[in-house]
Amino acid sequence: MGVDGVGFVKALAKAHESTNPPLEGDYTEAGLLYCGQCHTAKRSRIDIGGEELIVPVWCECMIRADDEERHRNEMILTQMRSTELRGFSLMGQSLENCTFENADRDGDNRDSFVKCRRFAEKFGAMLSDGRGLLLFGDVGTGKTYSAACIANALLSQGRSVIMTSLVTLIESGTNDVLSRLNSIDLLILDDLGAERSTDYALERVYSIVDGRYRSNKPVIYTTNLSLEELKHPVDIRYQRIYDRVLERCYPVEFRGISRRKRGAWSGFEAMNRLLNED
Ligand SMILES: [Zn+2]
Repeated sequence: MGVDGVGFVKALAKAHESTNPPLEGDYTEAGLLYCGQCHTAKRSRIDIGGEELIVPVWCECMIRADDEERHRNEMILTQMRSTELRGFSLMGQSLENCTFENADRDGDNRDSFVKCRRFAEKFGAMLSDGRGLLLFGDVGTGKTYSAACIANALLSQGRSVIMTSLVTLIESGTNDVLSRLNSIDLLILDDLGAERSTDYALERVYSIVDGRYRSNKPVIYTTNLSLEELKHPVDIRYQRIYDRVLERCYPVEFRGISRRKRGAWSGFEAMNRLLNED
């Protein structure tokens, strides 16, 4: 290191000494300053160009305090981001408090509910594969509640989510909302199959479902229809809509009666594993 370099390091060490001064309780051992709290060194010897220089270094409690502050700042940023994202999510206030922690864990649909929790926990994998869920079953079995739990879990992680229904999107979706549907991390469409069956409405439904399908991002649908009704719709105009849904969404059944064991769904082996194991 040249003379200028040595001078520079000395100046730097001097400047840093003022931000790392000896505090009450600190002590000197073998010519170096030690922290009275954590008993690690606050000064270190370095050799520059054959000259020994004593420079300030952070003791363990300074490193820890810095980590904690960084962590606090990150938490605040995530909180600010999730508040903002929640404002854009279109979620009704009634669903704001649906969380996996608040839920009844011993209900009839415990297994299905656990799959939803795992979906949220492993969302990174779901997002990169564009895989979603199809929550199907009778009215009042907890499908919307479970979907809202996923939405809230992801929003608090700072993920972008929109939760609404196709009926709402078709009747009152603004261009602003419609243009965001394909860029957000997760789209939740509640009550598939409740749309009006006019050609116009079905064309709009297809355009929304297909747009998201092409963007290769996950969708969660809830529906009161049975799998059979989705696979073989009586009205053939629904076929191409439901085909898109069934191709990307893992079916999770919600029942009004005691749960029954079901076999693994074919075509979703990898996801089956992810959703059935912690
Ligand atoms: Zn210390």
